[in-house]
Parts: sequence; structure tokens; C-alpha cells
Amino acid sequence: MAADLVAFDDVLATYDPALGLEVHVELNTSTKMFCGCPAVFGGEPNAQVCPTCLGLPGAMPVVNRKAVESAIRIGLALNCSIAEWCRFARKNYFYPDMPKNFQTSQYDEPIAFDGWMDVEVDGGVVRVEIERAHMEEDTGKSLHVGGATGRIHGADYSLVDYNRAGIPLIEIVTRPIQGAGARAPEIARAYVAQLRDLIVALGVSEARMDQGNLRADVNLSLAPKGSDRLGTRTETKNVNSFRSVERAVRYEMQRHAAVLGTGATILQETRHWHEDTGVTTSGREKSDADDYRYFPEPDLVPVAPSREWVDELRGTLPENPTVKRTRLQADWGFTDLEMRDTVGAGAFGLVEATVAEGCPPQAARKWWLTELARRANESGVDIADLGVSPAQVAAVQALVDDGTVNDKLARQVFDGLLAGEGTPEEIVAARGLAIVSDEGALGAAVDAAIAANPDVAQKIRDGKHAAAGALIGAVMKEMRGQADAGRVRELVLERLA
Ligand SMILES: [Zn+2]
Repeated sequence: MAADLVAFDDVLATYDPALGLEVHVELNTSTKMFCGCPAVFGGEPNAQVCPTCLGLPGAMPVVNRKAVESAIRIGLALNCSIAEWCRFARKNYFYPDMPKNFQTSQYDEPIAFDGWMDVEVDGGVVRVEIERAHMEEDTGKSLHVGGATGRIHGADYSLVDYNRAGIPLIEIVTRPIQGAGARAPEIARAYVAQLRDLIVALGVSEARMDQGNLRADVNLSLAPKGSDRLGTRTETKNVNSFRSVERAVRYEMQRHAAVLGTGATILQETRHWHEDTGVTTSGREKSDADDYRYFPEPDLVPVAPSREWVDELRGTLPENPTVKRTRLQADWGFTDLEMRDTVGAGAFGLVEATVAEGCPPQAARKWWLTELARRANESGVDIADLGVSPAQVAAVQALVDDGTVNDKLARQVFDGLLAGEGTPEEIVAARGLAIVSDEGALGAAVDAAIAANPDVAQKIRDGKHAAAGALIGAVMKEMRGQADAGRVRELVLERLA
């Protein structure tokens, strides 16, 4: 049920929002965090389990070195300090999809802490402070069968799959972001988008939001304008696209203001985001840390990365994102506005990868920001999750560049790609999309158009070349768009010279 909302501008007249983001990144290690089970997606349910990740008595966990390495690299890329010594902790709570009845996480000793990331928003830079990045393990998955919503309420029965239990996660937590005002929704979106780019550049996760490799929880609170204290916050869980992050912040600001406006107080709770209706609904009351009865994990030795190892990992970091943007903007010849739009659309990494596949930068930008952005928007997914790869975009542009198709036909190639009809070349062949380059066929169509439009033809003979458009249009229609308009124009002018 949708709550009453206060208009966005009215919220800002009365309150200052404070944002906080918790992002879980599922690492792409080949095995789980504390055992040797495969950590790959999509196996038969409960096929990738062992006594350790099922929490059977006597099983002993061992830390995955690769996961620690990824955690340190993420921490360093976020300008964090890396702990010289830190421990895991048991976070005790009961969930049916968590067989140990505790999650092995980190509590007061995270592997990385006190960092920051400079986030570009609308051409300006906002520094987001990172409180911590800590290591933990994922839970299993419950599937609630029967009932309309797929949630446990109203279900006939539930199934549980432990394949995901024990997959390494890094949780990255920001400090409260205050003073954002009306830009709070955009900053939240830009932070998650830029963080995803960073994770992709580090190569530590598939980082697909639609598959849950990267999950954002959005904390939001309102305080009376000018006050520096923080209001009571809500935590909206598992928001699974950049666009939804922005919408969820906006919605919660408007809802909080409505609740506070009636004189009521905000309940500290988790909330669920509903993509279809664009609202949040109440989840569970949020526990305080002491409810989890954290204590140091007795079965694992502390993690004490040597400074030599940390320095070595520092040497493997990708180029600083801000420096890289400046460099690529110059390489690509983009204007500030073109660059801002590219970044804002979450397409920076996609354009970069498409150019790396040999596509001219302006063509890469054009396809991602127009045709593909529109389709992603229609499907309600981020463009990165649309299902078209940078290599495919480069392949489509190569077909345009070699004259096989024009821009209009290329759009139909994208239709074919999204429908899973094969490679761009196969789609062109199967759908018969190639431009007619047979001069005889083109010439015949031009002659027919001239014969059918004698008045237009006479104008062109009289030197009014602008009139050629009508004949070109007639030819293109006859050829069902499958002609090179430039060549048709040449033929028209040749014949009427
Ligand atoms: Zn296992």
C-alpha cells in the first residue's frame, strides 16, 4: 500500500536528508569463503555443499586467500587503511537459509576502514566517506512456493538451496552523507554506479545487480533543516538497479516527511523496494548490533596481511577513476556534456569496453545512450544488464562502417541480438537486412522513382537539388530501407544532371 507522500521540493524546505549506503559485493572466487565448494552460479540445488558450509558439527572452516586478496584490493581502491590484524566474528541470528544459525562476518575489526571515494555528480565531485569494508559469507536462498507474492506469507511451503551459503561477500559501508539536499537521490545513484565501475575494473566480481552479485541497501533519515543531528533511519534492502537506488531514496524522503509531518515518529526498520509500483513497504524492525551477540569466531585464525603483501596488491590497482576519465575524454574527443551524460547513464565502462573492441568512440556513445538506453529503460533494467555486450555493439557498428547495414537497419540487428538470434552477421543474413549494393537494382529503383515523379525530376534538372529528398525517400521506401541513401542521392543527381 502506498503511503501519503510530501512533494519532493517541500521535503527540502523543511528537512535535510542523510544518506547511507551498504553495498554487498559477491566475489568471483572459484571456491567459497571458508570451504572448497565451488562458488559458481546456477548449479543443481544443494549440489555445491559440504559439512563446513552446511555447518555440520566438527567441520572446520579455512579462510579463502583469494577472497582476502580481493577484499584488500577493494579496500585500497577505496582509499581505506588495511588492518594489520583482524578477526572474523559470529553474528548470531536464525534464518532457515543459514544452516549454521550464525553468519561468519567481521564486527569491530574490519579488514578495511576509513576510506573515501570521489563521486562525480552533474560535473561536480562529492566525496563519500567509507566507514568500512568487511568480509563475510552469503546465506543460502529460500524459495517460497504458492501464494501470490513469492514471499513467505501466503506460501504453501518453502524450499531452501544452500549452494549460495558461504560464497564470499564484501560489505562496503559509507558514513552518513549529509548536506546533499536535493541531490541526495542522484548522489546515491552515482555512488553505486561508480562503485560498480570500480569493482568491474578490479575484476573481483561479476558485479551484475540483476543477478544479485552487487546489492545495495539504502539508509535514509531526515533531520530538521539546519540541525546536525541524524534522524531515525530506515534501511531499504536489496535495491537492484541504479535507477531504483535513486527512486528509493526519493520515495523514502517523501514518505519520511509525510510521517514526520503528522507528528508521528519514524520506525527504525528494514523496508522492501517494489520495482513495479515504485514504493517501499515495511520489512522487519531493525535489530541493534547487541541483538546479534557478536563474538570472535573461535574456529578461524586472525587475518594478518603483511605490509609487503598489501604493497604488492596496491601495485595491481586499476588507474585512478578520475584520472582515467580525464584521459579517456581526451582520447575519445567527447565534450564535457557528452562525458557527463555517458557517466550519468552508467555507460562509461560500457563505452570504454566497446571502444576497446574497435568501435569508434562517438558511435559507441550513440548506441549505448540512445538505442540501448531506451530499450533498457523500457525493460526496467540498467543498460549493463540489458543482455547486449560491448563486443556485439562493436560488431554492429563494424557492419555499419563497412556499408552492410545503415543505422536504421542496425536497430533491427539489436532486436535480433536481444531475441537471442545469434551474432550480428547471422542476424543480418537470417533477417535479410543487408543493404542492396547491386547497382543494377538500385538504378532500376531510381529510374522508377524519376518516372513516377516527373515534376520533382524537372525541379532537380532545373538545379533545385534540395528536391532530391523526395526521390531518395521514394527509392528507400521501395527498397524497404535497405539502400545506402548517399549512393541513391548520387544516382539521382547523375541521372538528372
Ligand atoms: Zn562447502
